[in-house]
Amino acid sequence: MTPVDENRTERVDRLDGVHAWHPFTQMSEHRAHPRLFIERGEGCWLYDTEGNRYLDGNASIWTNVHGHNDPDLNAALVGQLERIAHSTTLGLAHPTGTRLSEKLASIAPEGLQRVFYSDNGSNAVEIALKLSFQYWQLAGQPEKTGVIALNGAYHGDTFGTMSVGDSGGFHGRFSPWCFPADRVPAPVCDEAGGIVHASDMSASLARLDELLAEKAATTACLIMEPWVQGSAGMRLQPRGFLKEVAARCRRAGVHLILDEVFVGFGRVGPMLVCREEGVEPDFLCLAKGLTAGYLPLAATLTTEAVFEAFLGRFEEYKAFYHGHTFTGNPLGAAVAHKSIEKIEARMADGRHAETLAAFEAAVLNYGLGSGLFPVVRQRGLLAALELPARPVAERTGLKVALEARKHGLIARALGDTLLVVPPLVISSDEIEFLFQQLTRATQIVLNASPSPTGA
Ligand SMILES: *Cc1c(COP(=O)(O)O)cnc(C)c1O
Repeated sequence: MTPVDENRTERVDRLDGVHAWHPFTQMSEHRAHPRLFIERGEGCWLYDTEGNRYLDGNASIWTNVHGHNDPDLNAALVGQLERIAHSTTLGLAHPTGTRLSEKLASIAPEGLQRVFYSDNGSNAVEIALKLSFQYWQLAGQPEKTGVIALNGAYHGDTFGTMSVGDSGGFHGRFSPWCFPADRVPAPVCDEAGGIVHASDMSASLARLDELLAEKAATTACLIMEPWVQGSAGMRLQPRGFLKEVAARCRRAGVHLILDEVFVGFGRVGPMLVCREEGVEPDFLCLAKGLTAGYLPLAATLTTEAVFEAFLGRFEEYKAFYHGHTFTGNPLGAAVAHKSIEKIEARMADGRHAETLAAFEAAVLNYGLGSGLFPVVRQRGLLAALELPARPVAERTGLKVALEARKHGLIARALGDTLLVVPPLVISSDEIEFLFQQLTRATQIVLNASPSPTGA
């Protein structure tokens, strides 16, 4: 171990105060509360500059799969690093990227064999939208420019993804610069611990039928997050909803874009939701868990039919003019390949199923059983625990997250909803610890500031 520098945290804290601007963070709150500097990670645990450890209940913003500092992933990364850290994929290829493409095609639905790389989830979605848009022009149907999206959707923070997203609180002010999208209400599904309390997709499908009857000829694509809208606060969809939507898109000649940036790679159970439901989308967007939380890498998978529409002589200008500098970075590709192999192994020998069962049991016991949370949603390795209604200004969710840190847990709140998203390899003991500390922190915060109504 390196010798302890007594004032280290103080020093970086001062620098953070002067230089840092953190994403999705009200910086006045950030300045007012004790700041935390994560220095290293080991398995599901994060260590701060003071040597305290915290369970990573947020999977480092929904990305971590095999824990931190995983020896296999490290070896894959170092092995690639010793060959080359980056080489462009604009007109060139590298074997690591090509091998990853084959691997991705093997886990994807059969028809998705073409892989277009980028470096984050927003870009993976932008690329799918632009490919769909350009496809219809190349296919002689330039009038197909419309897009359908779900209420509550989140697809990223760039202008294209904000346009199809519906995170009013995050993006509403930018709407004058966004392109229009037709909206379908998200279906209703209340499910936790394997128990379905409510499930209704009729209003969504009725609206979709209306829209398609009226506008299919001018609609390029429908985009959705299958099974769970993560950033909307873990809004679940009934199983089978995706299949219904997919069938309607297919019949209407409208591309289906699936954003599995969050739900992919075992997060909600299966490797990919589309394959689990037997749905073959026209575009599949992957990021977050793709590199197990190691490096920025994203992929947009599509069909041979889409790919072929872009072929032609150079001077026809049919090529897809989109590419980011670090697109398909080999370090990320090497880690992604190893990570997928490790997920496959966990699924094959039953470890993944055991983790899912332990997580579900803990949600039943602590989430529903504690009586602290009026609403609990859960599927796979994700859960949303809604705190009792309090005025926004009380910042109850933030207070619980800050309190949880004192008990060795990193948890993230979306407003007054606590989101639980652990690494896929979390152990039964760690799951117990996570929910124990989260309910304890919640109790402390709720007791300290009783509801103004006394309810
Ligand atoms: C996080 C997320 C994105 C955006 O990915 P970034 O890598 O943050 O750009 C897109 N879609 C979904 C469903 C996400 O959860």
